[in-house]
Amino acid sequence: MNSKHADLLIVGGGVIGSSIAYHLLNAGYEGKVIVFEKDRKYEYSSTSRSAGGIRQLFTTKVNIELSQYSLHVYKNFHETMKFDGFDPEIDLKQRGYLFLGTDEMMSKFEEHLKLQHQLGVNSEILDKAGLLNRIPELNVEDIAGGIYCSESGYLDPYSVMQGYIKNAKRLGAEYVYDEVADLVLDEVFQNGVKMTNGDTYYAPIVINSAGAWASQLSQQAGYPLPVVSLPRRVFQFDTEVPLQNPLPLTMDPTGVYFRHEGEHFISGYAEDYVPSMDFSWKRQDFIENIWPIIGHRVGPFEQLKLQSGWTGLYDHNTEDHNAIIGEHPEAKGYYVAFGFSGHGMQQAPAVGRGLSELIMKGKYDTLDLSPLRVERFKENALVIEDAIY
Ligand SMILES: Cc1cc2nc3c(=O)[nH]c(=O)nc-3n(C[C@H](O)[C@H](O)[C@H](O)COP(=O)(O)OP(=O)(O)OC[C@H]3O[C@@H](n4cnc5c(N)ncnc54)[C@H](O)[C@@H]3O)c2cc1C
Repeated sequence: MNSKHADLLIVGGGVIGSSIAYHLLNAGYEGKVIVFEKDRKYEYSSTSRSAGGIRQLFTTKVNIELSQYSLHVYKNFHETMKFDGFDPEIDLKQRGYLFLGTDEMMSKFEEHLKLQHQLGVNSEILDKAGLLNRIPELNVEDIAGGIYCSESGYLDPYSVMQGYIKNAKRLGAEYVYDEVADLVLDEVFQNGVKMTNGDTYYAPIVINSAGAWASQLSQQAGYPLPVVSLPRRVFQFDTEVPLQNPLPLTMDPTGVYFRHEGEHFISGYAEDYVPSMDFSWKRQDFIENIWPIIGHRVGPFEQLKLQSGWTGLYDHNTEDHNAIIGEHPEAKGYYVAFGFSGHGMQQAPAVGRGLSELIMKGKYDTLDLSPLRVERFKENALVIEDAIY
C-alpha cells in the first residue's frame, strides 16, 4: 500500500473530467494533476454511449450559454486540439436540431424563442410547410409546427473525449487506470482518495466527475446530492428507402428522438424513471415504444430493420435535471461536476473552462456557472428548464 501526493485529483476521466484536466493545464495550472479512471476502455462510460446531440434550444440562460460556448469550441476542435501525431476528427454535423410541436406546444416555443433570440441563438419557428421543406417524408397531420436551430446538430462523443484525454496528457496530466473506492474529504488533515487496491492519494483539491457513479461516491463521503443513475437505450436501424435530406436531430412531441448516424439512423426516448445500473438492451422495447411512433412520423420508418443498439447511463439530477458544478459549501477543496441529466456532451467544453477558472482564480470569468452551484438546493434556487427530455 502506497500513499502519494499531488495538487489536484480528478475522479472520472470521461469527457467532463478530461475537459477539466485539459482546461486547467492549458490555462497554465502548475500543480500536479492526477485523473483516476476505472474503465480503461471506456466501455461503460456515458460518454462512449451518448447520442451526441448538440442544441442551443434550451430555455434557461445558463444552459443556452453553456451550449453556445461549447458549439463554438466544437466548430474549432480539430484546429485547437491537433498536435504532432494526433489529428482529432469529431464528425460535427451541423444539420440542425428540431422540436416538433402540437398546437398546445407552439405558444411555449414562441416563449422559448424570445430568450433564445435575446442571447443570440438563431432559432426559428417552422410551420408545416417549413417542416416539410426540411423533412419531406414527415407526417405533419397531428403536428402544428416546430422550433428549429440550424447551427445545432450532432457529433461523435468518443472522439471529443479522446481529444481532451490526449491533450490533457500532453500537457502533463497523469492518468491512473484504477478504481477509487472512497473520497477522503478532511480539510484538517488532507483531502484525497482511497483506491480499491489500498493505495491512497492526497491533494488539497478533489474533483468528483465520476458521471453516473459520482453520486454514490459523494454519498459515501457524507455529502449526498440528488442524483441517480438512469438507464437510457439507443436503437440503430436502417430503412429500405433512403430519406431525401440528412435529418436534423428531431424530437417528436412524445419525447422520441431520431437522427441520421452515417447512412443509418438512431433513435431513443425518455424512458420510465427507474434508477438502476442496468445495461441490458431489449429489442422489444423498440418494437413496443419507438417503432409505432417513428413509423407514424416518417414514412420510410414504417419499413425498417433494427440493427443494433446499446444502453448507457444518465447521471440524472432528480430536483431540476441540470448539472451540479462548483465547490461543495461544507467541504473545502471538494468540487463536483455531475448530474448532467443527458446533456453533458454539449456542456463539456464550457464546464471544463468554467471549473478551471473557479479553481485558479476563485471566480468564473468566461461564463457564469454559479446558477448550477451546489447550494441551490438549500437556497431553493433551482434551475428549471422547460425543454429537457
Ligand atoms: C444514451 C445516452 C444519450 C445521451 N445523449 C446526449 C446528447 O444527445 N447530448 C448530450 O449533450 N449529452 C447526451 N448524453 C449525456 C452525456 O453523454 C453525458 O452527460 C456525458 O457523457 C457525461 O460525461 P462524464 O464524463 O460526466 O461521464 P462518463 O463519460 O461516464 O465518465 C465518468 C467516468 O468516471 C469513471 N468512474 C466512475 N467511478 C469511478 C471510480 N470510483 N474510480 C475511477 N473511475 C470512476 C467511469 O468509468 C467513467 O469513465 C447522453 C447520455 C447517454 C447515456
